[in-house]
Amino acid sequence: MTFHFHNTLLLYILYRMDKKRTDYISWEEYFMSIAQLSALRSKDPNTQVGACIVNSERRIIGIGYNGFPIGCSDDDLPWGREGDFLDTKYPYVCHAEMNAITNSANKQDLGGATIYVSLFPCNECAKLIVQVGIKKVVYLSDQYHDLPVFQAARRIFEMAGVSSSQLSPSRNKIELRLNLES
Ligand SMILES: [Zn+2]
Repeated sequence: MTFHFHNTLLLYILYRMDKKRTDYISWEEYFMSIAQLSALRSKDPNTQVGACIVNSERRIIGIGYNGFPIGCSDDDLPWGREGDFLDTKYPYVCHAEMNAITNSANKQDLGGATIYVSLFPCNECAKLIVQVGIKKVVYLSDQYHDLPVFQAARRIFEMAGVSSSQLSPSRNKIELRLNLES
């Protein structure tokens, strides 16, 4: 009896190992997760945004997150949002979209690409997205929808023929293990 049970269990396990997994993440979840993973690199205490650019062959061609320009110390420039303009982060910070575009190795490849971003792009990033030929924006959050810079971004996208859609993921979070021995 026991022997039979173990045999059946073994056959079942072997059968399962022969089939492909069914709980794998979708392409869209995969690229958005890479954007979100990149956002973890941000030093901004309030807003962490990541971006991942993908070409028509589903190859990742640019990754970025919000941060200060190259050579500008994260410790010397301000991260605040209030007070005198020059004492806030706004005039200095490079958005994730800008960094993903400028980090991209092959600018030609950006034509017709899709950008995955944590947050719907602002007007400045919308202009950059249009100018490099990116045709599709997939975003997670649209929390600043009504602010003028985001209204302007929508207007730019509509006129320039860039489509945008909010991702509806099949799961709320993805966990990664960095220690496989515990
Ligand atoms: Zn922006």
